[in-house]
Amino acid sequence: MNKLLNRNLSKIENETLASFIFRISKGNDCSFPSTICSFLDLSTYDLQKNEFTSNSLSVLSELTDQSLSNLRMMTNSFFIDAFGEVLFEELIIKNNVQYCPLCVSVEFHHQRNWAFIPISVCLKHNVFLIDRCCNCHAKISLNSYWYESCKKCDFKYKDAVAVPIDSKSFELISQKKLYEIIIEMKAPFFKELSSLEHLKLILNSRKLITGLTSFTGEGRLENYFWDKTTLSHLYANCIWLYFNFPRNFNMAFNRVNTQLNYLVINKLKRFEYYLESISESQIQTHYANTTIKLQRNSDDFMNIDTISYEDAIHLLNFRHYQFKSLERAKIINPKFTKGNVKRYTLIEIKRLHKILEGELDVGDFNKVTFKKAISKYRQLGFSFEKAVLWITQKKLKPYRDAESLDLDGLLLDEDKLIELLDAQ
Ligand SMILES: [Zn+2]
Ligand SMILES: [Zn+2]
Repeated sequence: MNKLLNRNLSKIENETLASFIFRISKGNDCSFPSTICSFLDLSTYDLQKNEFTSNSLSVLSELTDQSLSNLRMMTNSFFIDAFGEVLFEELIIKNNVQYCPLCVSVEFHHQRNWAFIPISVCLKHNVFLIDRCCNCHAKISLNSYWYESCKKCDFKYKDAVAVPIDSKSFELISQKKLYEIIIEMKAPFFKELSSLEHLKLILNSRKLITGLTSFTGEGRLENYFWDKTTLSHLYANCIWLYFNFPRNFNMAFNRVNTQLNYLVINKLKRFEYYLESISESQIQTHYANTTIKLQRNSDDFMNIDTISYEDAIHLLNFRHYQFKSLERAKIINPKFTKGNVKRYTLIEIKRLHKILEGELDVGDFNKVTFKKAISKYRQLGFSFEKAVLWITQKKLKPYRDAESLDLDGLLLDEDKLIELLDAQ
């Protein structure tokens, strides 16, 4: 094993760790990925997804003489830690691959920049990334990508013809900003907001403007995940909103206010709710002080106090199964409106969100993360629903620190938890 990894193979700029391992394997024994996976105690699926456990990275670090932090930077686990799992899931391309034909023409590999849905251009070559076989238009699966050719028609991926992007287009400018926010983790628009908050701002903006008329081009903005061109246009619009702040932002909101209908109002409510969460920021102050804020008084027929399932799950930053299990446990209670449409009371959802945010002041106690507590004490009857129930009943208090990005990272007092479990 050691001899295998010490071959003189250097990593390519921005290459993923999965790609690096696959390249090493190609020059060696073909069974290598599965051999090394069992050696690292990692499933081949996780290797393909570029997700590595800390243990597997330590082993690799020793084998390759690369520092742990260098290896970590090459993995998707690095981004999961930076963004939180929920946000990461929203951004990552699952099971399929996009790539730059010019980057792979020298040596076939995969880059971490290509793994994100909003990224659609290679900034080194100023060409569009390719996400379909250029011969038969089949999607490029992870599996066929590692074998370098299309499974359906045998087309060699490195033979794809590159399509250049207009160097003066706004789309290219917007791609540069998206690289800054996602890959370089910078904060290009508002000094007081972190890169993570910028990312959330862009994703919330995407939800707001989907369905509206484009601000930078023709037609309606759509969120078609299978159509790169449309998606790229949608993200360019999200970025456009924050150029020349507040000029474009105001223009867009004036337009939104003339296109009000039931759906748009719901999206605006969601966006306003998001802005409330980043108070103290320039954008929040601007929004609160200008007339672009939605006039709600005349909207009583629109049932403004309740929100849809999709909005509720978004506000809480939950996954579907989490939301549904709380509904089954009657911790969240739907309200049926006319026509038997299921909706949720906004105040109730906001209250739950506030409680689950956790208190920032972390005292001196035996800390266990929310996620770990659930897996550790499952045998004793502890579960996601029970955790939330006890938190809402104020029996258990959640705390957060700088690293708690979402629910999973909340901190609980382990001694208190054991006490509660014993008393059941
Ligand atoms: Zn390239
Ligand atoms: Zn093909």
